[in-house]
This record gives sequence, C-alpha cells and structure tokens, in this order.
Amino acid sequence: MKFVSFQVGDRQAYGVERDGRIIELAGLHGLPQDLLGGIEQGEGFLQKVKYVLKDDSVEGPSYSQDGIKWLSPLPNVKRNIMCVGKNYRDHAIEMGSEQDIPKDIMIFTKATNTVIGHGETVLHHGEMTEQLDYEGELAVVIGKRGKGISTEDALEHVFGYTILNDITARDLQKKHGQFFIGKSLDTTCPIGPYLLTKDEVIDPQNLTITTRVNDEIRQSSNTREMIFTIPTIISTLSMGMTLEPGDIIATGTPAGVGKGFNPPRFLKKGDKMEIEIESLGILTNQLQA
Ligand code: MG
Repeated sequence: MKFVSFQVGDRQAYGVERDGRIIELAGLHGLPQDLLGGIEQGEGFLQKVKYVLKDDSVEGPSYSQDGIKWLSPLPNVKRNIMCVGKNYRDHAIEMGSEQDIPKDIMIFTKATNTVIGHGETVLHHGEMTEQLDYEGELAVVIGKRGKGISTEDALEHVFGYTILNDITARDLQKKHGQFFIGKSLDTTCPIGPYLLTKDEVIDPQNLTITTRVNDEIRQSSNTREMIFTIPTIISTLSMGMTLEPGDIIATGTPAGVGKGFNPPRFLKKGDKMEIEIESLGILTNQLQA
C-alpha cells in the first residue's frame, strides 16, 4: 500500500493511493487519526486497512493527487532522522578520496524541524549558507520496536520505504566539526511523496535512484551500490539503542551531489529538485526563489 499524509484545511489527514486517487483513512472504522498511530499498532493496522478497502464503496472522502497539499508521510516525527554518511563508494570518493570510504557505518542525525513534504518549498537560508546541496536517498521507516536486531531479522522490523532529500549546508557542515547544524536547517529534509509498505518492494537493495536539478540528471545509481546494506544498518543502529516504530533512517546518497562537481554546483534560489526511486515515485521540491 502507498500511504500518504496530507493537509485538509487546518487538519492533518492520511490515506492510501488507489487508482490515482487518495482515499482518506483517518478515523474510518476506528482507524487511528494519524499514520504514526497506525504504524505503532503493528500488523493489525495493515489488516484493518485492507479490510476497510476491500469493497470499492469506502465511505471516506477521496481526493485527486493534484488537489491535496502533501505532507511528509510522517509529519510529526518523534526523533531525529538517522542518516548514514558515505554509504556509496563513488560518493565517498567524490567527497575526498579512496581514504574516505568508511570501514564502519558512519551515522549522523537531522533534527525534526527539518521535515517537510512533497511539493513544499525549501528555505534557502541565504543569510548563513552559500553551499546548500541536495542528496537523494532511499529512507527506511521502522515498523516494529527492537534492540539487538540481527541482520537476519532486520527487514521484519521495517514498515516501509520512502524517498528523502538530505539537504545539506556544506559550509556549515565543515565549519562546525559535527554535521548537526549543517544538516538541520528548517525545511532541509523533504520526505515522500508516498510511504510504500515493504510487501510492495521486492528487493530494496535493487532500486534505481535518480536525482534531477532543473530537469538535468545529477545522480543516477542503484541501491545495490550501498556499502552497508539495510539489514546491516538496522542491526548496527539497534545494537544498544532501541529502535521505535516511526523511526526514519536515510541510507545514504550516491555520487553526483553538487559538492562533487568541479567547480561545485550548489543549489541556486528557485532550483527544482526531483528525486525518483523505482516503485516509490518522485519527490519534488523547489528552493525558495
Ligand atoms: Mg545524506
């Protein structure tokens, strides 16, 4: 199922995409009011949604995809977004050299204030950065709580997959030692448009990923190129830290970020960013003009 969160008037809603339309689910037949509440209910939630959708005459309202204001599939995340750094060999090299290919997983986080949805405007933060950069990534959403998760069991803890743009102020990332400030400016984590349940992704480690800026292809790769696979990432993160339903993990970006060009090609005001991942759709956002 393709879950979507969106805004109707002044309230947040969620639903699923069916035949090109979004069917609202919030509150229908006792379903929770937001998608995170559903994910926290576990398998029972998906079964209930399937039951509600099984006949074609669902009573809830439905919307055209052009007519909704999209939100991140999880608009009210509780914890920082966890991100893997330098998880594609060619990207690690473009950020420095062969020496930059990590031996162990490198993790940083983005603060929750960064999260926005498909179609929302990214602030340019021109007063503090001249090096805003895009990073197209596959993101994993955790469905089942766990600690000490083995690589064999890791995918059982996944609810689904979505697209994430790990927008980064390169100058601030470098200046402040730790990445946190450079990765956590408001609106610099677009997520969506859909959260696709894992049963509809045959192999998350074999998905084409493409980033375009103003229709020009900048990143073109496949998730099979990851250095650390999704099970390894989940297993490593959960060694001593309990992962919770609704946690979002960004799995790293391939080569072709603006900083990787010579000379660098950082984002300019008004630039349109599109990240496309096979089966997951296209996440589109524009930088404030
Ligand atoms: Mg990244």
